[in-house]
Amino acid sequence: MTSEHYRPDADILIVGGGLSGTMLAVQLLRLPGQRRIVIVESRGELGRGEAYSATELGHTLNGNAARMSVDPDDADDLTRWLGEFIAAGGWPESDEQHVPVAELFPPRGIFGLYVQQRLVEAQAVGAQHGSTVEHVRSEVIDLQTDPTGIRVTLADSTQLSGRFGVLATGMFAAARTPQRDADGESDTLNAAAVDPWDVAAMRRLDPQGRVLIIGSGLTMVDTVVSLEQAGHRGAIDVFSRHGLLPHVRRQPPSWPDFLAADHTIRSTRQLLRALREQCEQAIAQGIDWQAPLDTVRVHIPRLWNQATDLQRRQFVRHVRPWWESHHHRSPPPSAQLLDRLLQEGRLNVHAASLLAVQDREAGQVRINLRYRGEDQPTEVSGAALINSTGIQYDWRRVDRALPKQLLARGLIQPGPLALGIAADAGGAVLDAEGHVSDRLFAMGPPLRGLWWESTAVTDVALQAKALAARLVASYNP
Ligand SMILES: Cc1cc2nc3c(=O)[nH]c(=O)nc-3n(C[C@H](O)[C@H](O)[C@H](O)COP(=O)(O)OP(=O)(O)OC[C@H]3O[C@@H](n4cnc5c(N)ncnc54)[C@H](O)[C@@H]3O)c2cc1C
Repeated sequence: MTSEHYRPDADILIVGGGLSGTMLAVQLLRLPGQRRIVIVESRGELGRGEAYSATELGHTLNGNAARMSVDPDDADDLTRWLGEFIAAGGWPESDEQHVPVAELFPPRGIFGLYVQQRLVEAQAVGAQHGSTVEHVRSEVIDLQTDPTGIRVTLADSTQLSGRFGVLATGMFAAARTPQRDADGESDTLNAAAVDPWDVAAMRRLDPQGRVLIIGSGLTMVDTVVSLEQAGHRGAIDVFSRHGLLPHVRRQPPSWPDFLAADHTIRSTRQLLRALREQCEQAIAQGIDWQAPLDTVRVHIPRLWNQATDLQRRQFVRHVRPWWESHHHRSPPPSAQLLDRLLQEGRLNVHAASLLAVQDREAGQVRINLRYRGEDQPTEVSGAALINSTGIQYDWRRVDRALPKQLLARGLIQPGPLALGIAADAGGAVLDAEGHVSDRLFAMGPPLRGLWWESTAVTDVALQAKALAARLVASYNP
């Protein structure tokens, strides 16, 4: 069939219907012109993904409503929607936070409803110019490209084609990816560990049993919230290399954007020096150190993108734990719970590296750790082990069909530092030989290596808008 007569199943075929894929569809539907959008998503609902499928009210966004609009042109979008949702009786527990709507930290499940409503509204707009979006519920297990577009194979062997393909596959949980130890043996961590999102499994734990958690970031915070909700009242020991907990998110006042005024800052060392000076100035004026820190966020993609691999490696090795704990902050209700458990002595946080998971007996798990500063390993046992180490960004280590096939076919290559996949600044993926695809694009977490911060709501919202404009321009040159 010639490309002239070829009619693909979709103009734009999006793989993954979490926040990224859904927001891309929203932006495409809002733009003039007729187009068929197909989203292949294995979950039953669009717009949720892992993050916004949360069912616990205690699993909240880590920023308040004023910071989490999905509309890059309207920062009040979520606040307005949330106000109406609360007024309609949707979230009676919001009273407990005692703050105005803009300062509320909404449960992530409710945020998912907001995303879904924006999709429904965009569908109505799109329908006026004949655009449609269809959710095909399946997993894409393979993808090929040709000069006319892309073709995907679904888990049931069905094939679908599109003029353009977009990888909006999100993050792959480390807990679901096999890890190898130094001898190439499969690590037993994942086999022995409870999934941090498996709330039902937490309800089955011995309420007084000692729980061991590996990882001390925001996933751990959610895990502790889930344990508490599940009725667990025993000891919780958290182990991570540096033993750093996320700081609590406060509402600092605005602070001058010092990086906008100084484009000479490029290296990690220069950035840290400048940031430290700014924080000291803030503290000397009685202002929260979070104020200067929050101005840095918007510059991170540019600084990361400009950095050499050596500088990026230095950042990852020396700064990342501090960046994670200072920047990726806890919502206040969760932080209050952690504070209480720390004060009660039920929660203990240790700087220690996991060496091995020993054999598991019924109701007992034993692990070997090396505490920071010690030479000898220590054995620790508990009733359960929870792996909250988070995300596997290296697609070569992801045990899922599509990443494997894309790599095997040479359609993608690892991104900088093997974080996600390589792409140009507009999200067009680079194949194994470095050619920029004019058919296959990516957005959100797969672009971690390109931008470092490519995951948060605001990152995804901005990328969705830019990519929609690029795709439409490519389609209607
Ligand atoms: C637990 C958690 C909490 C978070 N909290 C916050 C927060 O408070 N604030 C914030 O700004 N950000 C937060 N984030 C970041 C959040 O991931 C992003 O905001 C957003 O979810 C990224 O959307 P996504 O669609 O790219 O990825 P995902 O939400 O992971 O969605 C990807 C989707 O793709 C589907 N998929 C993958 N591969 C295939 C395939 N081969 N075939 C078909 N479907 C496929 C998956 O089923 C999934 O639904 C959180 C993330 C997590 C995991």
